Amino acid sequence: MTLLMLVGPSGVGKGTIVKELKALRSDVWLSISATTRTPRENEIHGVDYFFVTESEFEQMIKDGELLEWAQYTGNYYGTPKAPVLEKLREGKLVVLEIELAGARQIKTQIPDVIDVMVIPPSLEALAERLTTRGTETPSDREARLAIAQAELAARGEFRFQIENDTVTEAIAQLLPLLPDQE
Ligand code: 5GP
Repeated sequence: MTLLMLVGPSGVGKGTIVKELKALRSDVWLSISATTRTPRENEIHGVDYFFVTESEFEQMIKDGELLEWAQYTGNYYGTPKAPVLEKLREGKLVVLEIELAGARQIKTQIPDVIDVMVIPPSLEALAERLTTRGTETPSDREARLAIAQAELAARGEFRFQIENDTVTEAIAQLLPLLPDQE
């Protein structure tokens, strides 16, 4: 069973790395999180996230359906437990793309997780990427950048750190951390 956790600031490019990893390995399965955040224009329920209400999310917490969960810029985010356990049993390379508080919960529950923090080339580069992406309001962007600094300050908690300057370079750092595909 292989669980890979990609952690790192919003806008650092975790999604792009996973997309590239999926193209390279057919055994990759990306967990779909539940969130109370409003969907972005191009996001699809059940594909990008399970978009739920606050009360639905709180029910999932009560029912023990989440492997981990956290609040981030005023919204809940969490990893549904059952599909992750099922895909791990099937021998998939299961990938979680999550923020710091959730990552800490995973590390205590599943110590042999491959824990990777994705680092931006600089805070300026990160700010520029978030602005170019244009999916957040200026105030949400500011909140995300403030959280980014706290997340990067915790980089020492992670066994592996990869710098995402270009996706090619990031993938070259990530591949050696993973077991060979069977
Ligand atoms: P976004 O709103 O940009 O999609 O996500 C905001 C942050 O929440 C990102 O750092 C993202 O990786 C993280 N995130 C997404 N899904 C989960 C989850 O299930 N659990 C936790 N803890 N963080 C998540």
